[in-house]
Amino acid sequence: MAPITPSRQQYLDIKAQHRDAIVFFRLGDFYETFDEDAHLVARELDLVLTRRHEAPMAGVPYHAVENYIARLIEKGYKVAIAEQLGDPVKGLMPREVTRVVTAGTVVEPTMLDDKRNNYLAAVIYDSSGARAGLAYADITTGEFACTAFRGADIRHQVDEELARLQPAELLIPEGGMEPASRSPTAEMKPAPVANGSGARASTASGLGSRITPVESWRWELATARQTLLGHFEVRTLDGFGCHDKPLAIRAAGTLLAYLQETQRGALDQLTSLHTYSTAAYMTLDAATRRNLELTESLRDGPGESGIRSAPTLLLVLDASRTAMGGRLLRQWINQPLLAREALEARLDAVECLFHDTALRLELQQVLREIADLERLTNRAVTRIATPRDLGAIRATLERIPFIQAVLADMVASDAAARPFALRPEDFDPCDDILALLQEALVDELPATLQKPGTIRPGFSDELDGVTERARHAVEWVKNLEPAERERTGIKSLKVGYNKVFGYYIEVTRANAALVPDDYIRKQTLVNAERYITPELKEYESLLLHAEERQLDIEGRIFRQITEQVAAAAPRLLATGRALAHLDVYASLAEVAIRHRYVRPQLTESDVIRIRNGRHPVVELALHDEPFIANDAFLSREESIHIITGPNMSGKSTYLRQVALIVLLAQIGSFVPADEAEIGLVDRIFTRVGAQDEIARGQSTFMVEMVETANILHHASPRSLLVLDEIGRGTSTYDGISIAWAVVEYIHNHPNLRAKTLFATHYHELTELAGRLPHVANYNVAVAEDGDRVIFLHKIIPGGADRSYGIHVAAIAGLPRTVILRAQEILAQLEQEARAPGSRREAVKALAAQRAASAEQLALFGEPTSHPIVERLQALDVSNVTPVEAIRVLYELCQLIGEDG
Ligand code: ATP
Repeated sequence: MAPITPSRQQYLDIKAQHRDAIVFFRLGDFYETFDEDAHLVARELDLVLTRRHEAPMAGVPYHAVENYIARLIEKGYKVAIAEQLGDPVKGLMPREVTRVVTAGTVVEPTMLDDKRNNYLAAVIYDSSGARAGLAYADITTGEFACTAFRGADIRHQVDEELARLQPAELLIPEGGMEPASRSPTAEMKPAPVANGSGARASTASGLGSRITPVESWRWELATARQTLLGHFEVRTLDGFGCHDKPLAIRAAGTLLAYLQETQRGALDQLTSLHTYSTAAYMTLDAATRRNLELTESLRDGPGESGIRSAPTLLLVLDASRTAMGGRLLRQWINQPLLAREALEARLDAVECLFHDTALRLELQQVLREIADLERLTNRAVTRIATPRDLGAIRATLERIPFIQAVLADMVASDAAARPFALRPEDFDPCDDILALLQEALVDELPATLQKPGTIRPGFSDELDGVTERARHAVEWVKNLEPAERERTGIKSLKVGYNKVFGYYIEVTRANAALVPDDYIRKQTLVNAERYITPELKEYESLLLHAEERQLDIEGRIFRQITEQVAAAAPRLLATGRALAHLDVYASLAEVAIRHRYVRPQLTESDVIRIRNGRHPVVELALHDEPFIANDAFLSREESIHIITGPNMSGKSTYLRQVALIVLLAQIGSFVPADEAEIGLVDRIFTRVGAQDEIARGQSTFMVEMVETANILHHASPRSLLVLDEIGRGTSTYDGISIAWAVVEYIHNHPNLRAKTLFATHYHELTELAGRLPHVANYNVAVAEDGDRVIFLHKIIPGGADRSYGIHVAAIAGLPRTVILRAQEILAQLEQEARAPGSRREAVKALAAQRAASAEQLALFGEPTSHPIVERLQALDVSNVTPVEAIRVLYELCQLIGEDG
């Protein structure tokens, strides 16, 4: 048994209050962990496990702690930091937990991505499961918002909002996010706790966020409301617009309480609560965000070729110069608008900077020098700002007058009917704060306050006094030797210093008689005596304590300045927001010029008309060949387009390109086209290839059907539907039937007939155009030159009649034998298909042919026992999709390879 020393007891008491976290216990220059935590930390961070009073211990040096904490947070743990506070009482250093770091509450710059928000979210459902509340906050920027949901598809709505926010951590009531009667959302189910300590927060597979269950009582309305009222120091929540949304209040209050606990009250940055409605924004479900590769590429992710930043829409659009602009742009892309007026205002601003390149370049040059005012201000608010942080605020504020002047010029010369979205007065230069920082802080600021030299001379009389006296003391000591030599006439007199006695005057024994009366003997050496004088000791004390005093005073002044900066937070943050907007407008304008985008014409109609549209991401990825632009024209009369065409001809690219152009228009961006008229849509739905779903353990076909069901249930006549190869995941006949019925449903349902782009391999579907008045056929043009097939990537009216799948297989490198045989089989199938009884007959005929085929494959030696023959015999040809057929061909080729 380890003896219980007072500090051990102190540790145990702290640990008892933080069972769900790893406790980092400050001991001098180290943060130590003990017992189970020590085992865990040693294992996770590769640290050496030692012992202290028998207890297992593992520690990290204090100056490197951020990095270690970051790794633990990344792995899903929480860390409670117990700091040393004040002076020891009866030998025991007082310690307290000053912060609990969790994924949603990190503030350390090294743990944060500059250009994305780090959200903590909270979700609660009511007992009926028909209503829900959601709140989220980013404590590094001060954003705090809540909303409420109602309706039958509540779970869906909440999932969509979480997909937008991508919270780093999600709070849910203990026992599950949803009422007991409903099963928890599969995607958000907490993962099993990975170790006995319980410090690991659960990892939600779907959102990549961490789930933290919070005791049920904390979600009570009264408790939550009280937390909010207390924090904002108000009597009612009316001012925040959430007074009639109890579930939003419960989510917001619980979230706030969690923050208060983890941040130990340092929450002044949350100055307001914004209540919003998701109805004001275009809804995008998680699948659509993924499929359109808005901010994450489908190819991203660990384990896949190591590419982490494959191109996304965000990457193409992001020419922002500041972190604030980068974050705002990401928010815009994730939250397209529905209101035309707001969009026109954004477009006006972009257009203005689009036309005036000189102005834009001037502004962007300055923006490049602008620091992250939002996060820096919040660091001041939470009192963790360093001298350089305040220096960065100063440098940023110094640039504001220039920006104001440029905007003022623009206002003066603005002949346009509509003024620029931002005016000089939107940027508060915070002159008082700037003056304070300029006067108080030196130009070249140190990283920390550990050494004196942060405060500018002349700012504080007290500090200057200490500095001046110290300087004088140094001077005096330096002068002492010559002065005393002169006074005493002792030529060999020396002034020296050692750690034990401090400053002394040394006189050789031979000169002892000349020593003046005021010398006090301090030490006798073999050949000399050492003396001090009262004056020397006075100066010595001054010198020795000067640095300590300077640090003390500088620390105090720095805290006062930080407080003044914190008090100006609302003004600084408003300037930060204006800078972020300016940056995004400039970024969108720059991208529009660079890639030849045009301003879309927005309407409230049902028409989408795009002339020479391009895919914003694919067009940049093509190097060897030009991107072929394509038109799109969808209207109430011709609302459903069936698009057929060979594999690899560009159907998917075209579908996504139309969706992305609409989305770009609805974030207020110019679009890659020669001309675009966009009737605003309320939602964009996509259902595209399902390759990436396999990892999630669901059958491809099941996922496809779930997503299709979701679309049919939620789409409105104002939606844009992008359906790529519905029904591909099952047998041909099932697939065609489902695809057919889906198109009919969209066409005929009185509340639907949404604008739809439907790409398919099933040429049978082109017959729908003849039967349904609002369906039109398009296909991707192909040119044949003898044996050669050239994909023109051009969308033209009419249906396709050939797949060219075998052609693609040949380009992909299948052996010639396989290609030739495939062509033979195809010819036969086509011939049979023309005969009465069609496809099924052909397939049957083919099956009957198996033996003969096997013989033809004589090149394999023993045909009947060869693995290729066995593989072919095992194939149920009538139930093979085109894609599977290609896969089988691949397999066969590999077998040939092994054989040869
Ligand atoms: P599949 O049916 O096999 O899924 P697809 O018809 O959907 O194929 P895409 O994936 O859209 O084909 O396009 C295949 C490739 O063709 C793209 O990766 C791109 O390189 C090229 N491509 C597509 N559209 C164009 C275009 N408009 N201009 C130039 N190249 C294009």
